[in-house]
Amino acid sequence: MPGCLPPRRGRAGNGQHRTGERIRFKTLTLADPAAIMADMSTTSYGTCNLCGKRMSKAGMTRHLEACAPRHDPPAMGRPARILRLRIEAAWSSWYWMDVELRHDLTLQELDGFLRLTWLECCGHLSSFYIGHDEYTVPFALGDFMDMGQRSMDVRIGKVLGKGDRFRHIYDFGSSTEVKLRVTGERQGKLGDDYLRLLSRNEPPEWECDTCGATATWICTVCMYEQDNPFYCEAHARNHDCDDPEMLLPVVNSPRMGVCAYTGALPEEYWSNA
Ligand SMILES: [Zn+2]
Ligand SMILES: [Zn+2]
Ligand SMILES: [Zn+2]
Ligand SMILES: [Zn+2]
Repeated sequence: MPGCLPPRRGRAGNGQHRTGERIRFKTLTLADPAAIMADMSTTSYGTCNLCGKRMSKAGMTRHLEACAPRHDPPAMGRPARILRLRIEAAWSSWYWMDVELRHDLTLQELDGFLRLTWLECCGHLSSFYIGHDEYTVPFALGDFMDMGQRSMDVRIGKVLGKGDRFRHIYDFGSSTEVKLRVTGERQGKLGDDYLRLLSRNEPPEWECDTCGATATWICTVCMYEQDNPFYCEAHARNHDCDDPEMLLPVVNSPRMGVCAYTGALPEEYWSNA
């Protein structure tokens, strides 16, 4: 995928972030968005990958408005139109990212970025929803295209502008839904990168249901049966449960605990070739 390429600086999940505030998992399932939305009282923080400042989720949007243009790499050529996006988990306030991308990046390349950083487990279908239109992965478009269904192979700058809100769904079985907003637009140069990751939430920290220590596993059975499905290393494999082996790692993604998701793919999958 030419140009699918996050940032040489500002790589995700490299452990440089301070640990997030410890929070308890108060909700039962992904099917209970109201409960998840209720758990939004604690502020989420992230670090600006361009200048290193730690900011709240709300403050970061304002910060990047000024910080991003000051940190364009020295590059040849004419400035191009650049869009900045705030990307958030639709049903959890803990997971968010800010990216900048060139207008000629395609929705399909953005889909690739979302998969690699947050979503990909086993190659499920995905779509963007912009206005009344659905933009889906090209191989899913056959003879049975619905009205308003289009290919993702379209340049982002053609279909989106500042202020626009849109959605992305990965996997139409155990869906993970992401909401996106164009938070800024400017002329600038991103060098060889068509997309750069500006900021990302610090990983939330979860408590073991048995002892309260930092959890490293989520039980995909308990997830649907009790308030807190998280366990530490010591208690994961012998916790009180019908099938205590059904564990997935705690990862910094809204797809944690779903299907076979084990975290972001290694950097070699998504850095510029
Ligand atoms: Zn900054
Ligand atoms: Zn899967
Ligand atoms: Zn424990
Ligand atoms: Zn369990």
